[in-house]
Amino acid sequence: MLIKDYELEMFSPPCDPGSPVWVARVKTDADLGPIMPYVNAEVKNAFYDPKVPTIVWREGAHKYALRENVVSINNLKDRAHAERTAGKIIKRLNDIWERREEIEPDHTTRVPPKLLDILRHLPRTNCGKCGVPSCMAFAAQLVEGERCVEDCPALLEAGMEERLEKLRELGL
Ligand code: SF4
Repeated sequence: MLIKDYELEMFSPPCDPGSPVWVARVKTDADLGPIMPYVNAEVKNAFYDPKVPTIVWREGAHKYALRENVVSINNLKDRAHAERTAGKIIKRLNDIWERREEIEPDHTTRVPPKLLDILRHLPRTNCGKCGVPSCMAFAAQLVEGERCVEDCPALLEAGMEERLEKLRELGL
């Protein structure tokens, strides 16, 4: 077993104090670097940078990020939701680690898009409906894996389909 113990902390997304949506930071008792190539092989469209090392991917309603001995999870409703989601991802990571001899590790580097490439496809109205004061601040949260593109209500309006598609093509 790779992760035997962990502690969970919760906080509001940066620049959005008091947000009803929470981010969890799960500190583990293990260095997560060695498992990242196996996670990269098992999940779809992850951003993986072996030089840091770090890996970020999106699944369902959440983004997950591994770095050093921390697992970050976004888009959580409350502590109970965070505890359930953290328990599932830790169990999955341990399962991947147990099966590592059957998995071909994937060392392919795939880095997140640059801030300005994201900003180009956002509505750029700085309306603040996503809870941060500008599209640039929201783009920074997307890069960090703390928000999903669907957190921008303006992108879900009619006429925004092409922008949304372009952002998804960037892997966001
Ligand atoms: S809701 Fe969308 S358009 Fe408005 S500030 Fe946030 S990212 Fe920009």
